[in-house]
Formats: sequence, C-alpha cells, structure tokens
Amino acid sequence: MDLGLSEEQAAVRRLARDFVEREIAPHVIAWDRAESVDRSIVEKLGSVGFLGLTIPEEYGGSGGDHLSYCLVTEELGRGDSSVRGIVSVSLGLVAKSIAHWGSEEQKREWLPRLCSGEAVGCFGLTEPGTGSDAANLTTKAVRDGDAYVIDGAKMFITNGTWADVVLLFARTGPEPGHKGVSAFLVPTDTPGLERRVIHGKLGLRGQATAELALDGVRVPASAMIAPEGKGFSVAMSALAKGRMSVAAGCVGIAQACLDAAVAYAGEREQFGSPIAGRQLVQELLSDIAVDVDAARLLTWRVADHIERGLPFATESSVAKLYASEAAVRCANNALQVFGGYGYIDEYPVGKLLRDARVMTLYEGTSQIHKLLIGRALTGVSAF
Ligand code: FAD
Repeated sequence: MDLGLSEEQAAVRRLARDFVEREIAPHVIAWDRAESVDRSIVEKLGSVGFLGLTIPEEYGGSGGDHLSYCLVTEELGRGDSSVRGIVSVSLGLVAKSIAHWGSEEQKREWLPRLCSGEAVGCFGLTEPGTGSDAANLTTKAVRDGDAYVIDGAKMFITNGTWADVVLLFARTGPEPGHKGVSAFLVPTDTPGLERRVIHGKLGLRGQATAELALDGVRVPASAMIAPEGKGFSVAMSALAKGRMSVAAGCVGIAQACLDAAVAYAGEREQFGSPIAGRQLVQELLSDIAVDVDAARLLTWRVADHIERGLPFATESSVAKLYASEAAVRCANNALQVFGGYGYIDEYPVGKLLRDARVMTLYEGTSQIHKLLIGRALTGVSAF
C-alpha cells in the first residue's frame, strides 16, 4: 500500500479543507445551537462535486477513488459531523447503492440529481423495534398488480426530513430474516409517507434525523432496486463501504481534537508557564496523536482494498470500530486539556465529544462490529 497521496488526491483534500474553512467553520456553533445546519450547504456540497465523488462521470459524478472519498469525509468530519453525515448517507449509502444495484432507468432518474445536490437521499433500514437485528425488520411491502403497497415505520433516519428519496428496506416474502427483505426507491412525496424530526439529540444536532411512518405507500414495481429478496444484500454492501466513511469522519473528529488541544495547551498558562510543558498534558496529547494515526491508517487500508478489488468488509468493521472508539477517547482527552473551558460550547471540544459519541452506535454498534470480526476470525456466529 502506497501511503503517499497522488497530486489529484492532495488537490481534493485541499479543496475540502478550503470548503470547510469557508462554508462550514464560521457557522458550526450557530448550527449546533439552532439544531439545524443551513439547507443551502447541500447545493454547495454538490457544486464542488462532493456529493458525486465516487459516482461515474456518465451519471453526473466525478468518478473519484475511495481514498479521495476518505480524504473529503475526514475534512468534513473535522469541520462538522452533521455535514459529513449528509454526504456519507446521500452519496455513500444511497447514490452508491443505486450506481451498483440500480437499473439504467433508476440511475438516470436519481444519480445526476443526487450528485448535484438537487436531490438528497436517505437510508431507511432501522425500525423502532429492530436496530442491530435489522434482518428481522417488519415493514411490509405487498404486491398489488404492478405496484407494491408499503406499511411500517422507520427510526433514526439521517437526512430524513430533507430527503427527496428513501432507499427503503421492507419485507416482501414470508421467509424469516434477511431472505424476505427487498429494497425500494421511494420518493418522499409519495402519499402515505409521513416524516417527523427527532429533536433533542446529544450530538449531530445540525442533522435532520427523522422518524418515517408508512401507511399504504404505493410505489410501482419498478421502484424495487435489485431483485426481490436481495434487499438485505443491498443494505449490507452499502454499509460495508459506509462504515469506511464513518471511520474517516471519526479520523476528522480526532484530528480536530488534536489540533485544538495542542493549540490550547500552548496558549494556556498555569503555574507560571504553558500547560504544554507538563508531562501529564503531553500524555493526553500523545494519546490523541497515536489514535489519529492508527485510525487513519486502518481507514485508508479499507479504501486501498476497495480500489484493488480485495475483500474489505471485515477491514471496514475493524476501521469503524477502532476509529469510532478512538474519536470518543480523543474528544474526551482534548476536553481534559481544555479544563472547564472544554465544557462550554464557545470552545470546540465539547461538541466534538457529543458528535463522536454516536459513531459507536450507528452503522453497527461497537458490540456488533466485535461480533462481525469475531465471526470472521472463528467462523462461528455469536450474535
Ligand atoms: P439496539 O440494537 O437495541 O442495541 C442496544 C444495545 O444492545 C447496544 O449496546 C447493542 O450493541 C447491544 N446489542 C444488540 N444486539 C446485541 C448482540 N447480539 N450482542 C451483544 N450486544 C448486542 N439507521 C438507518 O437505517 N438509517 C440512518 O440514516 C440512521 N441514522 C442514524 C442517526 C443517528 C443519530 C442515530 C442515533 C441512529 C441512526 N440509525 C440509522 C440507527 C442506528 O443504526 C441504530 O441506532 C443502531 O443500529 C443500533 O440500533 P438500536 O439503536 O435499536 O440499538
């Protein structure tokens, strides 16, 4: 694995860094307090190509590689995880699934709009009663002539109230578990689909997370993506790559913690000199630095495997597990360096800690990733 960046990759990272400085950093505190990032960020993300980074050019994307995608998600995560999540879901989970599994018609209908930011996608897998055990979801899609009628509920859906299309997972067959699950592209203006914002989140407060209620939602049979009964494969293949982007976002959080903590330690004086000169403070800083490097290298390895056509699902679990736990540790250590000032939101580390915390929960909790890694090691499922 070549750890150097190509000229194009370095340019993409610079572009993302400039974008964050210009369009995100000045607004982060206000968006967090208002519990909403400014909706115009979607169009801006589209105009610089971040919403179609890894989508082929013929469908409106830029045909970029997965390391470039990691670099962009890391920079966005360094700026604001709420914004990073918009890209990770609309591009990483929805547009990528359409590009991989969709019919030519579905690609032509959705990809150019998702890449430009004219449309936003959301990923509807989790339900009130099924989170980790997603294969046992209960939302039902029943065939009726040349249509399906969908009834059920989805929970914690990122981009939920902003989205124009839901990649929705529903049970179409009597088979238990993953075998009876199919995937549909459901426009959010379809009658019978109601959305409600979930307020009061600990972190990712700028992001539109929603509950969806589906009551007699009728979609044409052509809205199904991938063959009937293959929906769970669509979800799992999306999440295997999605976890790389969550991991990259966590590297961004950890890097932001390192930058903020080193700068603050150099400025803050106690006992007559900067706290940067204290061994116990340096321990906090070096612990953060080691976590940043380790999380970044594990994440880049996933991108490298994808580009080289090697298996990457377990590597993705390893990276997501490590990077998400590391982001929480780094934010907690950075807050310690800031002392009492870390506890108020005029300083960045409190928000970084709140945003980091959910990373160990979504796209597979830490426990679920340990079970996935354990199964890969032993061949025995311990779920
Ligand atoms: P549960 O599955 O009920 O887990 C509770 C606890 O039990 C956890 O600690 C878990 O690790 C543990 N546990 C469960 N099973 C086992 C086991 N077999 N062995 C050991 N421990 C176990 N979902 C989407 O579909 N789309 C989205 O866009 C999306 N965005 C989200 C955004 C936010 C802010 C949040 C909070 C969640 C989001 N989710 C989304 C849902 C997320 O993926 C789920 O919350 C997650 O999968 C966990 O499910 P749960 O919350 O129901 O917890």
